[in-house]
Amino acid sequence: MADADRIRTVADYVARSKRRGDDVVVVVSAMGKTTDDLVRLAGDVSATIPPREMDMLLTAGERISVSLLCMALADLGVAAESFTGSQAGIITDTDHTKAKIVEIKPDRIKSCLAAGVVPVIAGFQGVSTERNVTTLGRGGSDTTAVAIAASLGATVCEIYTDVSGVFTADPRVVPSARKIPRISFDEMLELSASGGRVLALRSVEFARNYGVTLHVRSSFTWEPGTWVVEEEETMEQAVVSAISHDASEVKLTLLKVPDRPGVAAHIFRVIADAGVNIDMIVQNTSIEGHTDISFTAPKLDLELARRVTEDVARQVGASEVISDTTIGRVSLIGAGMRSHPGVTATMFETLANHNINIEMISTSAIRISCVIRVEQLETAVQALHEAFSL
Ligand code: ASP
Ligand code: MG
Repeated sequence: MADADRIRTVADYVARSKRRGDDVVVVVSAMGKTTDDLVRLAGDVSATIPPREMDMLLTAGERISVSLLCMALADLGVAAESFTGSQAGIITDTDHTKAKIVEIKPDRIKSCLAAGVVPVIAGFQGVSTERNVTTLGRGGSDTTAVAIAASLGATVCEIYTDVSGVFTADPRVVPSARKIPRISFDEMLELSASGGRVLALRSVEFARNYGVTLHVRSSFTWEPGTWVVEEEETMEQAVVSAISHDASEVKLTLLKVPDRPGVAAHIFRVIADAGVNIDMIVQNTSIEGHTDISFTAPKLDLELARRVTEDVARQVGASEVISDTTIGRVSLIGAGMRSHPGVTATMFETLANHNINIEMISTSAIRISCVIRVEQLETAVQALHEAFSL
């Protein structure tokens, strides 16, 4: 909903869905770059930015959207009422700027629906168990939508975005990338966790846990997009379904860590307690009782991660902490990998043929990720897309 025109277009679409006879609940996100602008403004005003105040600030963006959309709906003769996250009964924990939903009390939304009125809910926000306004982390409107859909037992949660679905790779990097008609929750989860920017990770977790069918589609063309469903319901049984890439992480390495039981436990406990979400971890073989440990973390958490890691390095007697901000991660995702050996070898061969050095590797049953130099990321994605004939 970038501008007034778009808001009227969305209102028109909602009005048509409603007239078709569907009960609809709408969750909206902030207009255009509003959230980014508010984040910037906070930075211009303050060096400390208390998280509680950041949340109060950011929720304003979605409030603007819900009220304007309801006004546009009123002009079309559709009865609609706006709700903040708090009014919609979205109760979260107290972790400001990345709160988790703990409960939804949708009674106001249900009575609104029962009265034939369209509830329009501000995405990305809730109220904490301590009654403060919270936000769910960037991209959190998806999570709001899925959570509301789950709590109402909706048939489908349609997520309208600026792309027409989930693609076999980012079409800006691989122009021949295809739209995937159906993908499983697990694959979508791995995609979102490894740099796929289409859906917020939390929203996919929620959808999988509560079995909410998702339909990711474009709010520009309204054409059918990608369905995210249970694995049995996916039609394509490709070995590799998609290739994702992520340049938003940094690598931190602790050098010469004493190799004793309990040291890694201590390091990662301290880092976790500081709220840093770490991802890949690699530990070297021990040489003379010492080892190196590297891990990746979001770039956004770099300052915090570095501070905490340096503290903990001193505590355990590691010699030094190095941070590397020029890494990129490329991942292959596919449920078919479980039963097809050789995918890893083909991936490594493809990277080798393009002279790409692999710095870290991590795998799950349906994903293989490699950390490489960030400047080789696009080449890697293109080469793998071709090697696996996506
Ligand atoms: N407005 C929030 C953000 O930009 C939430 C969202 O877009 O889903 O992150
Ligand atoms: Mg957004």
